[in-house]
Amino acid sequence: MSELTDRPSDDPYRRGTGEVVISARDLRIWYGTERGPVRAVDGVSFDLRAGETLGLVGESGCGKSTLGRGLLGLLPDGSKMDGTLQYRGEDILAMPARRRHDLRGTDLAMIFQEPLTRLNPLMRISEHFEEALNTHAPNLGRDQRRSRSLAILRTIGIPPTRYRSYPHEFSGGMRQRLMIALALVLEPAFVVADEPTTALDVLVEAQIIGILHDLRREIDTALLLITHNLGIVAEACNRVAVMYAGEIVELGEAAQVFRAPQHPYTRELLRSTISLSTTGLNFIPGAPPDLAAPPSGCRFHPRCPTAMRICPTRTPRMLPTTAGSLAACWLHQGGDELPAGAREPLERQEISVAEEA
Ligand code: SF4
Repeated sequence: MSELTDRPSDDPYRRGTGEVVISARDLRIWYGTERGPVRAVDGVSFDLRAGETLGLVGESGCGKSTLGRGLLGLLPDGSKMDGTLQYRGEDILAMPARRRHDLRGTDLAMIFQEPLTRLNPLMRISEHFEEALNTHAPNLGRDQRRSRSLAILRTIGIPPTRYRSYPHEFSGGMRQRLMIALALVLEPAFVVADEPTTALDVLVEAQIIGILHDLRREIDTALLLITHNLGIVAEACNRVAVMYAGEIVELGEAAQVFRAPQHPYTRELLRSTISLSTTGLNFIPGAPPDLAAPPSGCRFHPRCPTAMRICPTRTPRMLPTTAGSLAACWLHQGGDELPAGAREPLERQEISVAEEA
């Protein structure tokens, strides 16, 4: 029996049915700097199952891209990662570098934001596919490589006649579709898509999300979709993880989290979203903290409209809420165990004192 199935059943992250493809527990990623370690990801836990899409949302600088890259072992030199990370029950952090390298491309893949910087302008699209398949599936014959490439091109709506074109002969939206095809041609079990629709217009964006949705279903891929766009998450994701200052602060079914957000940060993010019915602009005051020196206790407390006295002093844990999601917030936990006055509103001047301490 794998370590995955050995986990205690009261593990709040172990939910649903189907094969767990990626499992992270208390995952931390940090960079060494002159000012000390910058904890870009700090104690993150979640499961991702085959055929499931998890949306990862939060403001810029909250650690989303670092987490996505860390899951695939694509972190820059000087970064460190610890905690538990498993791929189909196999411990990724403990596996030999060679095995990790072999998994990338065949089992684990990434769709990047900027296709122009990833596609070689001197290589035809056919050569990009040849290179990917030669490297990761050397057993396939020439005809098989070609037919597999043409099949995925057809799936993403690019005619086979464009197979021998160069990247500059495609529009931005088509190039992004090519990136998706190149990432998925080996039918990986886990894909990270990092802002795959940034810089595309809304119609192309909708096409790309539709394609990802169909491909995920077709090949049963587990997809982590990193995005600023909450509309995309509502449209395309089964579940959503909300990240703030290196931590996941809410995790649950997307429909449920959008209907009844439990963490004040999720609530504020949703209030800041612009839609056709928006009459005024809302924004979250302040900015995400410096991850070299994050605020004490709940990291959102300096910006939280419902902060209480307990918030800067003790870190809330991720626990199930009555709405069904997991959230790290004292509004949903503590009960009678909290000291007297813990739930009193936190005055703004108390916040500045806590920050100086
Ligand atoms: Fe706000 Fe406190 Fe909840 Fe943090 S723990 S989100 S500061 S109420």
